[in-house]
Amino acid sequence: MSGKYKYLFGPVPSRRLGRSLGIDVTPFKTCSFDCVFCQLGCTTHLATERGEFVPFDEVCAELERWLAEDGRADYITFAGSGEPTLYSRLGELIDFIKARTEIPVIVLSNGTLLYQPAVREQLLNADIVKVSLSAWDEASFQRINRPAPGLCFELLLSGESDFRAEFGGQLWLEAFLMEGINAAPEQVRQIAAAVATVRPDRIQLNTAVRPPAEVTARPVAAETLEALCECFEPRAEAVTSFDAAPVSGTGELSSDGLVGLIHRHPATAEQLAAISGADVAAIRAALAPFLEVGRIQVEVRDGDTYYK
Ligand code: SF4
Repeated sequence: MSGKYKYLFGPVPSRRLGRSLGIDVTPFKTCSFDCVFCQLGCTTHLATERGEFVPFDEVCAELERWLAEDGRADYITFAGSGEPTLYSRLGELIDFIKARTEIPVIVLSNGTLLYQPAVREQLLNADIVKVSLSAWDEASFQRINRPAPGLCFELLLSGESDFRAEFGGQLWLEAFLMEGINAAPEQVRQIAAAVATVRPDRIQLNTAVRPPAEVTARPVAAETLEALCECFEPRAEAVTSFDAAPVSGTGELSSDGLVGLIHRHPATAEQLAAISGADVAAIRAALAPFLEVGRIQVEVRDGDTYYK
């Protein structure tokens, strides 16, 4: 995708979702959480008030253009620079997409606003809604998710449960586990008990494979994550945030497109090469000028160099 799109990014290939077009409807970084594990860094606009942060008509125009010029994706995913349910016209956007294409719509949400009936209603036409739950009580919730004032663990849990009762689509739930914070077996069992009250169709366990907001958010070893899947019913699946898979002939990204992607999904040159079909040296060369002027940065984590 070229840099001509402001609100659309990717499509990002992933083993889990295939080729997914991202839609970003919140300015960086607008969220009701400030999670210690956030790959986007610290929340700069901690908010629970919804708004039309980006012009609805412009997002629709970009979608129309993308559908006409490309239109090839396995999913259209609301994700990006913050919490998508903070966008007050999210429901209208979902309806706009559903009226024009059969491509399934996914909303990646932290679930915090689902206690509001109006927010739940706006998500009803999505095909998949993925929510998160990484804490087991108020203290762990405050420590891990660092929510906006007015939010609490019980509200999150009841909102997600109420949504489950009303939503006919697929409800997925992701728990983000970190060593020394919420990955001890007893802690995970308590998270699993809370998750059971939500009754999601699928449960995914993720860990900090990308640079997180806080260095204290250390990853759980792959084999530990796999073993912890057993604590959940239905059994959880271990996922990582960036399991990009090579796709042939689909992923040409301009330099601007790469930078747009990196800002939302910190990535290594190897991961970007897999997405774009370019070789690793070409990716590094394309990004060098942006590094030089400070538009992007690098961070080394576990020996891997991430652009962000
Ligand atoms: S991980 Fe998601 S919910 Fe948490 S601060 Fe980042 S964008 Fe918000």
